[in-house]
Amino acid sequence: MTQQEATDKRFFIEKKSIRRYFYIGSLSSIVILASVLSFIYSKSLNQEFSNKISQLSRSIIEEKKRFIHNAVDRTLFLIEHERKHIRLEYADKNYSDEQLDAIIVDRVSELIRDLRLIDDGYIWVNEIVNYEGGDKYAIRRIHPNLPDTEGMWLSTMATDIKGNKPYEAELNGIKQHGELFYEYYFKKINSDKIAHKMSFAKLYKPYDWVVATGVYLDDVDQLIQEETMKMQQTYDEQRLLTFSIALVVVFLSTVNVVFFEKQIIRLMSNYEQRTSEYTTTLEEISNTDRLTGLFNRLKLDEVLTYEILQAQRYKKVFSILMLDLDRFKSVNDTHGHQIGDQVLVKTSELLKSNSRRTDTVGRWGGEEFLIILPETHSDKAIFIAEKIRQAFAASDFPVVGNVTCSIGVSTFHEQDSLESIIHRADTAMYCAKREGRNKVVCEDIPHSA
Ligand code: GH3
Ligand code: MG
Ligand code: MG
Repeated sequence: MTQQEATDKRFFIEKKSIRRYFYIGSLSSIVILASVLSFIYSKSLNQEFSNKISQLSRSIIEEKKRFIHNAVDRTLFLIEHERKHIRLEYADKNYSDEQLDAIIVDRVSELIRDLRLIDDGYIWVNEIVNYEGGDKYAIRRIHPNLPDTEGMWLSTMATDIKGNKPYEAELNGIKQHGELFYEYYFKKINSDKIAHKMSFAKLYKPYDWVVATGVYLDDVDQLIQEETMKMQQTYDEQRLLTFSIALVVVFLSTVNVVFFEKQIIRLMSNYEQRTSEYTTTLEEISNTDRLTGLFNRLKLDEVLTYEILQAQRYKKVFSILMLDLDRFKSVNDTHGHQIGDQVLVKTSELLKSNSRRTDTVGRWGGEEFLIILPETHSDKAIFIAEKIRQAFAASDFPVVGNVTCSIGVSTFHEQDSLESIIHRADTAMYCAKREGRNKVVCEDIPHSA
């Protein structure tokens, strides 16, 4: 793997990991954000849901309380009203207070027995005989629903099916505040269902009567259950909607991220392409002679160094030709610098057309050219140099006509450096000049035209 390939591979791996981090980073942030937001929203929904349920149950119970409180108050008003009425009615009959009270109790009891509240509600009355409580603390006086129990003794020790002592609670409340709300449970007659009841009781002191009525709370429970289910359904729908919105947001964000990433990749590859184009152009500029388009001295040095390394390592051979135009100064002097330049351009074309694709042709400087011939021994190099010399000898350049050249040839020796092999070619070329120009000279061995 060359250094360039290794760099490309590293760059590719880096790009891949940046892409991975970009995707993992952005998508996980989106998913976390969407989850956190939907979690917070559904938590607040739950909170709102339970608030609404407790608000609903509170308002239903408040309504029921108002209703039974009202019913008892109106019954007490009825008792008072009847008392006054009967006293007036019997005012002229000389009845004792006890006799009058007995008449009043009878009349009021009948009225109360006939009272019917909505939802089969009724009023019952217990008469307290012992405010200290215990067995026989009270007598049931009126009970429209259980007339057989009228006249029965009541005990504060009695418990409901859940172990509560409603009579005790009732007596304590009456003693403290004269009235109270209380709840208890009992098994319904002719049914296995357990009833949950809330009652309100108030003392009518003149007769020691506890006047009470109650409502079932089962329907409240049921109502709350129904409302809960309805609300649950609404909240479930809302939760599903939230989840769907979160999913859509995640999906759209993912599409956005992918689109964004593709745009960045496109932008990056554009930049990469342009950078590599610039690099190639810069490389070309730095390696090329501007006038002739041949390799310049910098590139020639590089190729020569490479050839020397290859030859040393793999025991190969190569040769170089150092070519200098003969009496070029007079071309400039006679025809001008521009024409001289044109001759240099034509020279480069002539050199290229007379060399192989594997050869390296470059301008060494001024009107000197270097040709590197890989895998070429000195005899073959001399042959090629001769071919080139002949081509120049037979040339007919525009304006200036025939231009000749002198060529020095040197072939790689094991101990050679860049300077030494160039120096020998240079020496050979000057030798060719000395011998009268238009000649090929190979490291001390002259080859005449
Ligand atoms: P010889 O090599 O045969 O000894 O004679 P010469 O006239 O070629 O001698 P010399 O090497 O001293 O002169 C080279 C001339 O090449 C000098 C300079 O004016 C000309 N020259 C060098 N570079 C350029 C160039 O880029 N353009 C032009 N037009 N002339 C150049
Ligand atoms: Mg010269
Ligand atoms: Mg010259």
